[in-house]
Amino acid sequence: MSKVLDEVLTANQTYAADFGDKGKLPMPPGRRFAILTCMDARLDPAKYAGLAEGDAHVIRNAGGRASDDAIRSLVISYKLLGTREWFVIHHTDCGMETFTDDVMRKLLRGSLKTASVDANGWHDPGGVGSHEGEHISWLTISNLEKSVVEDVERIRRHPLVPGEIPIYGYIYDVRSGRLVEVPEATAAGVAR
Ligand SMILES: [Zn+2]
Repeated sequence: MSKVLDEVLTANQTYAADFGDKGKLPMPPGRRFAILTCMDARLDPAKYAGLAEGDAHVIRNAGGRASDDAIRSLVISYKLLGTREWFVIHHTDCGMETFTDDVMRKLLRGSLKTASVDANGWHDPGGVGSHEGEHISWLTISNLEKSVVEDVERIRRHPLVPGEIPIYGYIYDVRSGRLVEVPEATAAGVAR
């Protein structure tokens, strides 16, 4: 068995052994809010936002971007499961700041192997690649505050998102663990 697989299954046994009443939790999030944030391994929304099982929806993708699929989840979150407030939380030192669509597409054309990065940028080891990367918008980030504002604005303007849901824009600082507001984003996300 793979080491990681073994570790995950062992950890799960320990978790499930002490599961308690959590098996009786209802499906709708008890604290009626949702967080859209990055998949970065350093971010633990349950810890940085004080969540327990059953509290809130956490939607994660590369960058915490307001992609069509993130909006799909947010719409389900309020329409069917009753959330009433949303957070968009990007973070410092995000990997999405380290490349562009062109860079990613070129790397994928080069090969499907893991690329390496140094002071001169990303490098592909070479091999067999694919042009399929051309068809994906990679939603990279060139300015962190701007990306939070853009995503809050996109969600705010979306025809399936009701005006009464406030959307808060924040940046999580990976060096301190603190959430820092992006006032322009929160202003754009104010409930109407
Ligand atoms: Zn990130």
